[in-house]
Amino acid sequence: MKTTLIIGAGGVSRVVVHKCVQNSNVFGKIVLASRTLSKCNEIKKELPEAFIEVAQVDADIVGEVVRLIKSVNADIVINVALPYQDLAIMDACIKTKTHYLDTANYEHPDEAKFEYKLQWERDEKFKEAGIMGLLGSGFDPGVTNVFCAYAQKHYFDEIHTIDILDCNAGDHGYPFATNFNPEINLREVSANGRYWEDGKWIETKPMEIKMVWDYPEVGEKDSYLLYHEEMESLVKHIKGLKRIRFFMTFGESYLTHMRCLENVGMLGIEPVEHKGQKIVPIEFLKTLLPDPSTLGSRTKGKTNIGIVAEGIKDGVKKKIYIYQVSDHEKCYAEVNSQAVSYTTGVPAMIGAKLILEGRWIGKGVFNMEEFDPDIFMDELNKQGLPWKIKEL
Ligand code: NDP
Repeated sequence: MKTTLIIGAGGVSRVVVHKCVQNSNVFGKIVLASRTLSKCNEIKKELPEAFIEVAQVDADIVGEVVRLIKSVNADIVINVALPYQDLAIMDACIKTKTHYLDTANYEHPDEAKFEYKLQWERDEKFKEAGIMGLLGSGFDPGVTNVFCAYAQKHYFDEIHTIDILDCNAGDHGYPFATNFNPEINLREVSANGRYWEDGKWIETKPMEIKMVWDYPEVGEKDSYLLYHEEMESLVKHIKGLKRIRFFMTFGESYLTHMRCLENVGMLGIEPVEHKGQKIVPIEFLKTLLPDPSTLGSRTKGKTNIGIVAEGIKDGVKKKIYIYQVSDHEKCYAEVNSQAVSYTTGVPAMIGAKLILEGRWIGKGVFNMEEFDPDIFMDELNKQGLPWKIKEL
């Protein structure tokens, strides 16, 4: 029987655990490990019939992760802790020759910058160890990469432009809260925007470029250009690409709160002195904000995430929209989590399933668009994330 080690016990982890249990014939024994053991136990309690063990681990320490992987004899590690832990967990996987999967690319806690460089640099070591590392197997990155690969395989000879469109129209009733880890979320949206055109990156001020997009089953929403990590790998792997951009919806209330917090320094990542103690403002803010994993029961409305691709097929111009709509309340009814965690956790489980089944397998470090998208698209339909395609 296989052993699946899941590291991290937050909102996304809860979904991954539920979904792995639904597919227990593939995942076998589940070991759920995180920094705070009680959070692992809370998730385990929701699934009394399942074969789940819990463990405490500090995943910043390679040696601790190595010991854990060895002691449970894991076949794969699903990393749904924070991006800060990616490298330590990858190194532990190299040392123990264990497959690795994550949903977000590495970020250093002291620098609000994320890129694949340090993870891609481990490719040789993954090859030597004979193991596979699958990077960014969430929704975006993740499913959006698979949508692009699917468009390329079935709809285009050449894709010229891609817009990734991420809409969360859920309402949790709080004046301000983030739908996933506040620190990661606020660092991402308060950073400069960036998109890629004609072979180079073009930087914008935060929220400088806005458009209104009509999201199916949601309606028209203000959408702002952000930098997002899947663009870094897609510009390498999608042939003929001339431009790629990423847009995310934000309501006026969210933006006003964010600007205000930024203006008073609450998004700072440098420690400040307060009554003789060092405090990192954004970490303190995280303590004040609602825990995203508790938003599920209050959130109503839908998410719609997709891609619009334009290009050429048989000499004729073509434009398509592939998207997926999820309903917060339905997600909560199934796995006790809202749709942002659900749409991340389900693809993480699918990626791990395909690795364990040997259907998406290779030696080295890979991004999602490097594998056959058809199998993944098929699993999305079966595992709770049905998608649609429209010709525009
Ligand atoms: P949460 O903050 O809810 O959960 C993170 C978990 O990781 C917590 O249980 C936390 O423990 C644990 N953790 C943090 N540091 C360590 C450590 N050193 N050792 C062990 N465990 C640790 O985050 P989410 O569930 O919202 O997000 C999980 C991941 O998913 C993040 O990387 C996020 O960026 C990514 N994500 C990806 C998306 C995509 O579409 N690709 C979308 C949304 C999220 P503790 O409880 O002790 O703090």
